[in-house]
Amino acid sequence: MSGRRRDDFSKKDVEIIAKRAGYICSFPSCGVPTIGPATTSQDAVNLGEAAHIYGASPNGPRYSSSQTAGERRSPENGIWLCRQHAKLIDADEQNYPPEKIFQMKNEHEQRIRVNLGKPSQISEIAGEHTAKGVGVVTGLDIVGPAIIRPGTRVIAEGIGKVTGTRIGPPHQK
Ligand SMILES: [Zn+2]
Repeated sequence: MSGRRRDDFSKKDVEIIAKRAGYICSFPSCGVPTIGPATTSQDAVNLGEAAHIYGASPNGPRYSSSQTAGERRSPENGIWLCRQHAKLIDADEQNYPPEKIFQMKNEHEQRIRVNLGKPSQISEIAGEHTAKGVGVVTGLDIVGPAIIRPGTRVIAEGIGKVTGTRIGPPHQK
């Protein structure tokens, strides 16, 4: 009978867990966005889950009998994950003990906190980039993460140190 008992998160707390994660999977280097528009203009699609860190039911993974029902249901005991990673932490319990999941959650929330209210760090590169000259000639100099659109053209011509596309840290001044 006890196997049926689950201390699920309330709807409101699921939302809090999701929002604290920016609706992005908290699993390291996953980064999958879990929320977006549905086909009908009046709805949204959610591909994420509020997973329990310490298990929700005695038969479930990572259950701790020393937790109260209230602690189990608290948003503090939840992590926002994509479906795949929510499944993974349960299927591979040995590899994902609660301490490790708490760490994932904290690191992810920290990243979200740092980027909150700031414009995206990813630059988009498209079109034609031409550089001609003498000395140091760089057609396209990419600093930081970037998306290069199909059809992007780079032309670098000159005498000296000619580089078509340079991807790397900022130049030392
Ligand atoms: Zn994920």
